Amino acid sequence: MARRQPTQANVATGLLGFFALLFVLGAIDGNYILKLLLSMSVAVLAAFLLLERLGNSHSFTSTNWGADDSKYRYSASGGKPSYTFHQQTVDETAPAVWTLKLLQSMEWLVFEQLVASYFKMRGMKAELTGSGADGGVDVKVTTQTTQAKRQIYVQCKAWSKQMVGVKPVRELYGVMMADKADMGILITTSTFTEDSLRFAKNIPSLRLINGEQFLALMKKLPADQQQALLTQFIRGDYKTPSCPKCSIKMVSRRSQKRGFDAKPFWGCRNFPRCRQTMQMKRDQAA
Ligand SMILES: [Zn+2]
Repeated sequence: MARRQPTQANVATGLLGFFALLFVLGAIDGNYILKLLLSMSVAVLAAFLLLERLGNSHSFTSTNWGADDSKYRYSASGGKPSYTFHQQTVDETAPAVWTLKLLQSMEWLVFEQLVASYFKMRGMKAELTGSGADGGVDVKVTTQTTQAKRQIYVQCKAWSKQMVGVKPVRELYGVMMADKADMGILITTSTFTEDSLRFAKNIPSLRLINGEQFLALMKKLPADQQQALLTQFIRGDYKTPSCPKCSIKMVSRRSQKRGFDAKPFWGCRNFPRCRQTMQMKRDQAA
């Protein structure tokens, strides 16, 4: 802890002294009710102190001081002090199988890499375009047969709750058409709105794959390949998002301007050079 807190013992000792003084004054005064109350206070405080001496201080300390300061790290960046959370820790219990929840907990870059690896496992060539979280195409997939070479444009949306509307679907279709790609696939960990499903329905070269469907595709891979992908992608920190501009892991920040209770958000490590921020997924903001 960077800051020194008064310990439980310090406070209790002070109070004990204060009450002892009152007790003496009460005795002089001859007020028996006051005396009784004060002797009870002294007894309670003595018991409290004893418990702490016995090493039971942990629960008292965390309940009494409210905010858990060990969660924050005090850092000075660019002269202005700011609070940052420690980087999210990887779950102690590593997932043993692919689930929708696991897919939804992945950050956008790891999800793109997973999608690319999936196509590679299916024997295709797949490359990340590196266009960031909002580019038109995230993965370029090429299938090569003796007859023909086909180019598939893949856009990924690693969203946990928000549905994918028609806008990114139209964008993907636009890039596909402009580049004369043979096919376009939008893969999300979430679901699609009615609008986007209706839009894609009449375009045979456009496919929308939601979280459940992508999971089903993953489950169709041979067991050893599924396991290999699992080992590859959950080994490190797969949850903390990467900066779309710098492709490095972001850090949790809390604006001081917005008050202490302001919601934490993801900021770039290269701040103030890079001012990219990102909203936290609901479960990350805890
Ligand atoms: Zn950045």
